[in-house]
Amino acid sequence: MSADSNRTIFGPANCALLIIKVGSSLLVEPDGQVRRAWLQTLVADIAARRSAGQKIAIVSSGAIALGAKRLKLEKGGRASLADAQAAASVGQIILSSLWAELLGRSGLIAAQMLVTLDDLEDRRRYLNIAATTRRLLDSGAVPVINENDSVATEEIRFGDNDRLAARVGQAAGAAGVILLSDVDGLYDRDPKDPAAQIVSRIETVDEAIRAMVASGSSSGMGSGGMASKLEAASIAGMAGIPLAIISGLKDHPLTAFDRGGPGSYFAADGSNNARKSWLGGRLTAKGKIFIDPGAASALARGGSLLPAGAISVEGRFARSDVVEIICAGKLIARGLCEYDADDALLICGKQSHELAGLLGTVPRSVLVHRDQMVMLS
Ligand code: GLU
Repeated sequence: MSADSNRTIFGPANCALLIIKVGSSLLVEPDGQVRRAWLQTLVADIAARRSAGQKIAIVSSGAIALGAKRLKLEKGGRASLADAQAAASVGQIILSSLWAELLGRSGLIAAQMLVTLDDLEDRRRYLNIAATTRRLLDSGAVPVINENDSVATEEIRFGDNDRLAARVGQAAGAAGVILLSDVDGLYDRDPKDPAAQIVSRIETVDEAIRAMVASGSSSGMGSGGMASKLEAASIAGMAGIPLAIISGLKDHPLTAFDRGGPGSYFAADGSNNARKSWLGGRLTAKGKIFIDPGAASALARGGSLLPAGAISVEGRFARSDVVEIICAGKLIARGLCEYDADDALLICGKQSHELAGLLGTVPRSVLVHRDQMVMLS
């Protein structure tokens, strides 16, 4: 596929719903001023796409940066979780009024949604977010989404809006995700190296691609950096959603990309169904099952995980909780376990005919069924 057709994939003709993520350093100058003039050019691009029939949801960072400025907090409000939460509370109001004002001036209705990692990990709440987002879009509104930083705790937060954007894209059934960043895309080595080149098309986020990522975002204002952008591409890819990282430093950044501006395009394979996509995009699991190489080959061929192939179990999980499946130290799959942790431990390494004797009940024959599992490598 040519570089040009990569771009049209995100256009109104091919992409019914586009998620656009805007990073903190694009919204806020290092001195704390809002980059209002630039933002107006982005909103003009969004309004043009809306008129052409494309639905758009925005994932906007910037609450912490704006709030830190208002509260005069050091380190951009990121010195501690308490600072970040206070900054987010103050900044989110500023951020939402900004979007409401600018979108409103273009005749668009802004809708605010604040979500936590937990909201997207729990399947019922995830489906709820999906339904609300779709209803808003069908009503003609433009959802402006951010992490609910003022209530999220350290262990259970995204912390970056890149993965949040991919996860929201997955929930809403988006056809594309664009991450607007302060870099032009993914470089094959440290972007400061004069020999560095942009990788314009990436088929899969594999070890070779991850190895290209040296350190975080150049501005230091957001918390994403390239590593979380690759994770976002991987989450989106598993759900069959293409993703692009493009520069937001130019005016009219979406139009600039349409016209051939630089960017990195991540292709997506649409092979997973909705439940498997949700599983694959999850960031947390309740436990781990360690398996032998024979079982790993069986999974790779599309089989289920049988008790005989399991070596040990870690964590406290109930039946139907999400577990990670690990072989030789490598995460290879994620799935819903048919047994709770105690029973799973009891039957590790056992043959099917031994299960009834051990459990005292008519057992389920598999530990993790292939329909409830997504392969990750
Ligand atoms: N949710 C954070 C904020 O609004 C930004 C997270 C990020 O930097 O990606 O400030």
